[in-house]
Amino acid sequence: MTEQRMDTICVQGGYHPGDAEPRQVPIYQSTTWKYDTSEHMGRLFDLEESGYFYSRLQNPTCDLVAAKIAEMEGGSAAMLTSSGMAANFLAIFNIAEAGDHVVASSAIYGGTYNLLSHTMKRMGLTCTFVAPDCSDEELEAAFRPNTKLVFGETIANPALAVLDIERFAAAAHEHGVPLMVDNTFPTPVMCRPIEWGADIVTHSTTKYMDGHAAYLGGVIVDAGKFDWMAHADTFPGLTTPDESYHGVTYAEKFGLEGAFITKATAQLMRDLGPMQNPQAAFFLNSSLESLHVRMPRHCENGLAVATYLNNHPKIRFVSYPGLEGDPYYETAKKYMPNGTCGVVSFGFEGGRAAAETFMKNLSLCQIATHVADARTCCLHPANATHRQMNDAELEACGISPDMVRLSCGLESSQDLIADIEHALSLV
Ligand SMILES: *Cc1c(COP(=O)(O)O)cnc(C)c1O
Repeated sequence: MTEQRMDTICVQGGYHPGDAEPRQVPIYQSTTWKYDTSEHMGRLFDLEESGYFYSRLQNPTCDLVAAKIAEMEGGSAAMLTSSGMAANFLAIFNIAEAGDHVVASSAIYGGTYNLLSHTMKRMGLTCTFVAPDCSDEELEAAFRPNTKLVFGETIANPALAVLDIERFAAAAHEHGVPLMVDNTFPTPVMCRPIEWGADIVTHSTTKYMDGHAAYLGGVIVDAGKFDWMAHADTFPGLTTPDESYHGVTYAEKFGLEGAFITKATAQLMRDLGPMQNPQAAFFLNSSLESLHVRMPRHCENGLAVATYLNNHPKIRFVSYPGLEGDPYYETAKKYMPNGTCGVVSFGFEGGRAAAETFMKNLSLCQIATHVADARTCCLHPANATHRQMNDAELEACGISPDMVRLSCGLESSQDLIADIEHALSLV
């Protein structure tokens, strides 16, 4: 069968029922599996045979949905996690631990920034942040002998900076380490980072993939292209025997295409346990069936709202990578020629106070700590997700105190603009 198009993969990827099997992805609502002999179960535990035994490690419903997302991203293997944060943590911790170092774009999700700058620091891991548009010299200077990976976001939440994926991939590969990209905002419908050189792709499926503010979730996709064995000394966790797993050497036994996800499952999911549950996976799958229809509409509404705001005298700036004149417009055109996402950030001539007044007077656009939902939602990051940061840290993430993040849903853009117009008239 020839490689299918995104629309078809969204609808039918992952699960291919046989004769007289359920048309819908079955929900395997079971924590455990029954076997006739302990020898059989022993082979599963030894990773000699693949099969299910306990849903903390693997569940068939989750695997079918992960397989669909792997196909959407053009990757070799994937695993679902209980949240996007769990996906980012497991993906990083799978190859970087105490004593290691990460190079990360400073324009990333606040939770991931905290994870790298504070929580993982307590685990002995250090991180150097670079601006997504830093000079080649700055990027080069960020690497250290113990650097294990480079991390960035295709479109940063909430700064809306676009990562030059090819450039960051080239720098990572020059140093013999993989590029990890959080592709939550564009989704594979608008951008497939693996095609541009990314090695590992993560998502918060809580956002557009679910798209209905119903279920938390995350996913890790491996491109299956990074040659761990060629950099065996850098990645001993993949290239030397795992004592905690009967001495298995993941890169040898599972090859380029399977090593990363197998280790993350057999070792990290086993010991840390942030597994997705099969019901959430089922709902995620239903949402994925319309992702290719929803994303263009989110982008269309985002562009309409960004264009309106850009021409408004009370608005100090608008960030939207799909808007001509935006600093990331050209980069976005290259990586996302058909649209970026539905999220628009903007600031007010009247500063922080104007942002607060504006937020109070919206009605259709609702205040929520969320983005990428069918319903338009709005957030003032300096007062919410980023309140723990001081002004200098905010600045480094590309966030000003007057910045509001509006996530355009699937409503009529005329109704959205009318609501914004009303709130702006009172600022
Ligand atoms: C929301 C988000 C996350 C965290 O995902 P959760 O599902 O909330 O844990 C990570 N990265 C990006 C880009 C996000 O927008």
